[in-house]
Amino acid sequence: MTEIFPNYINGEWVKGTALFEDRNPADTSEVVGSFVKGTAEDIDAAAAAAGAALAGWAGASGPARGNILFRAADILDKKFDQVSAEMTREEGKTLPEAKGEVRRSINILRYFAGEGSRMPGMLVPSERDRVHMFALRKPIGVTGLITPWNFPSAIPAWKLAPALICGNTVVLKPASAAPLSAWRIVEALHEAGVPKGVVNFVAGAGGELGQALVAAAPLKAVSFTGSCPVGNWLHAEASKRRLRIQLEMGGKNPTIVLADAAFDAAVENVVNAAFFSTGQKCTATSRAIVEDAIYDRFVEAVVERTRRMKVGNGMEPGVEMGPCVDQAQMETVLRYVEIGRKESGQPLCGGRRLTDGALANGYFVEPAVFANVREEHTIAREEIFGPVLAIMRAANFEDAMRIANNIPFGLSSSIQTTNLSRAFEYIYRAEAGLLTINLPSAGVEYQLPFGGTKDSSFGPKEQGPAALEFYSDYKTVYLKY
Ligand code: NAP
Repeated sequence: MTEIFPNYINGEWVKGTALFEDRNPADTSEVVGSFVKGTAEDIDAAAAAAGAALAGWAGASGPARGNILFRAADILDKKFDQVSAEMTREEGKTLPEAKGEVRRSINILRYFAGEGSRMPGMLVPSERDRVHMFALRKPIGVTGLITPWNFPSAIPAWKLAPALICGNTVVLKPASAAPLSAWRIVEALHEAGVPKGVVNFVAGAGGELGQALVAAAPLKAVSFTGSCPVGNWLHAEASKRRLRIQLEMGGKNPTIVLADAAFDAAVENVVNAAFFSTGQKCTATSRAIVEDAIYDRFVEAVVERTRRMKVGNGMEPGVEMGPCVDQAQMETVLRYVEIGRKESGQPLCGGRRLTDGALANGYFVEPAVFANVREEHTIAREEIFGPVLAIMRAANFEDAMRIANNIPFGLSSSIQTTNLSRAFEYIYRAEAGLLTINLPSAGVEYQLPFGGTKDSSFGPKEQGPAALEFYSDYKTVYLKY
């Protein structure tokens, strides 16, 4: 019997008549769970409950709010193995990747739980005699959180935790392709004793629920992570009501490889960033921009390493790359491979759907490497969000910088070099919000600001101390004594 996961509204687990299935992309015959398909009315009820709960939650002390997050982290920690395996089964990433993500979610809950005891404001001296002036933080109110499937636990965690610690109440709408990982966090918060109405969870079709959420009267803010078209639409809707909005969207992230790079490490970093998590990371490398002097050797080494990648069910030890998350995503990848074939020539490896043996019921695609990709080619310009790497040739460092920045996106960017001056030059000139040097472009931690620039992002950054800027407002006080 498939377990049915209800929505969570006003502290109650709410059943419904319509359900949708959360299927394993590695083996679509397995239904991981059935979710209640929420409606616009459910969103309205959730937003109303969040509105009613706001005064109580905002009025609780920061440490008291923090205690609930600490308890939720402990509850999730006790289910660590189960929740990690569920993530692999619903999203497809390998078990070690899923474990890393669940650990990160637990750490995020604890990190922001601690912020409840700090909640930094401002205290500055006045120019006037015996005037005491300070600014304290207050919540913004009911906040809508809309999350994607590719980090189905960490992204909900990195929105929920700062929103709650700042005293906001929330309505969370998870991605339909992988809602269970977020559901487990909500379950943990419920078991931790979060007051009714403070956290609400409504799963279901993004178009219908997103429209209802952005129109819900109690809403004051929306935090969204997902694709550019949806984010841009939400921005337009939210602006009509002057909702505070934060958008983290797509990327087309470059890794520059200079001739002086530590060669083997650079190869491994590019392959890791391009193909781990099936290339379905917003910070994944999709363009390797390689200096002419090492171009041929680098392409050869990347192809050789990529051919050795073990693709399969992420639950199996040794598998390095799982399936695409669903059929639509797989078809998108295969479509871009065809476009790449026409514009850039045959991929040097990969690009086919894999259906042999145990892979027959999954959405598996061989990791694909295209070489001699030029800036005007579609696979060098559009986000694919799958295991497709475009390798581009750069005459020198200046040319590589120009190619890397010549794109509307600005999420993450990386350089592989042993030259310190070049590394600093790159830090100041790279047009992206997240930079890595001699590391894969993907693989961030929660203690520092996260987010992009240009068309990839809008609004204050997420994670680290920066997250408080979106989820709270200042109240400035002047006091004569
Ligand atoms: P998506 O299709 O935009 O969906 C994201 C979320 O929005 C899902 O919960 C989706 O619900 C919901 N949604 C869909 N239509 C909506 C609408 N009209 N109004 C409101 N919400 C709506 O993106 P995705 O395919 O899940 O994720 C992949 C994208 O996310 C990629 O572009 C990737 O780069 C980006 N991403 C960015 C970051 C970052 O930090 N910059 C991180 C991760 C992913 P349904 O699932 O029900 O459709």
